Amino acid sequence: MIALALDIGGTKFAGALIDTAGTILARAELPIGPDPTATLGELVRHMSAEGVVGVGIGSAGPLDPIGGTVSPVNIPLWREFALVKCVSEMLPGVPVKLAGDAQCMALGEWWQGPFRDQGDRRSSAMLGIVVSTGIGGGIVIDGAPYLGPTGNAGHIGHVVAEPGGEPCPCGGRGCLERISSGPSMVRWALANGWTVDDGEPDARRLAADAQAGVEVAKQAFQRGADALGIAILAAAVLFDLDDVVIGGGVSASGPTLLDPLRQVISRNTGLGFVRRLRVLPTSLGRDAGLYGAAALVLPLVGTRE
Ligand SMILES: [Zn+2]
Repeated sequence: MIALALDIGGTKFAGALIDTAGTILARAELPIGPDPTATLGELVRHMSAEGVVGVGIGSAGPLDPIGGTVSPVNIPLWREFALVKCVSEMLPGVPVKLAGDAQCMALGEWWQGPFRDQGDRRSSAMLGIVVSTGIGGGIVIDGAPYLGPTGNAGHIGHVVAEPGGEPCPCGGRGCLERISSGPSMVRWALANGWTVDDGEPDARRLAADAQAGVEVAKQAFQRGADALGIAILAAAVLFDLDDVVIGGGVSASGPTLLDPLRQVISRNTGLGFVRRLRVLPTSLGRDAGLYGAAALVLPLVGTRE
């Protein structure tokens, strides 16, 4: 059985044909261009194949997975765009399922990531987190994505990390995303004396400086890791998590983020069942989202409906 996996990103659309064994049979990527609906049509036509049993879509948010609509921040032409209906019309009779990009990342890592060869010892409660320009997350319980009644479960970037803190575009205050995302760490570092000789200050440069021992850059990552670690701990206690998998652009900084993150978690953990939590980097990179989108519609993973 083959699934068509689609990844609706902020700057490009990606697609892949993936079978139940987890083999990527074909893949394509298109820049969104001026007409996102036309680009989507081109991608789906290009990727259509005999035997596709379903289409799984992971999309940048905000989105309404239950209603099947998306309003990606970076695609202004799509506001409450009926993505599921649109794709269903392109492939009549084929079921189409939609989830958030971070939810798909989590499911993809669960299926084809670090636990791939562990059979029954796969994570039975896993949280996947994308740390990038924003912070997203997805929960996988007993091999099925837990999307929640409105389809929004896992939004860890908007748990309150600093009560009364900075306003967040979501309408809340002191959200984790306002502290630990790449741009937030960069903003804090700049406000606290970090300078860049030439070019744009970004999270990659901040990570390089932290690795090189620049104190304010190290502090920025420590502050980001502190808030992220406390949010992870809360989730670990609530869900009895086995594993947390961290992906996204900022996770490419590797130990610069993961070392202080693991330290803050172990420093603040008492309960035995929480102490067993493993925090792992992504093993699939950007492919995690495509694997997860495929897993939404392949029979290997039950969906909680
Ligand atoms: Zn928020």
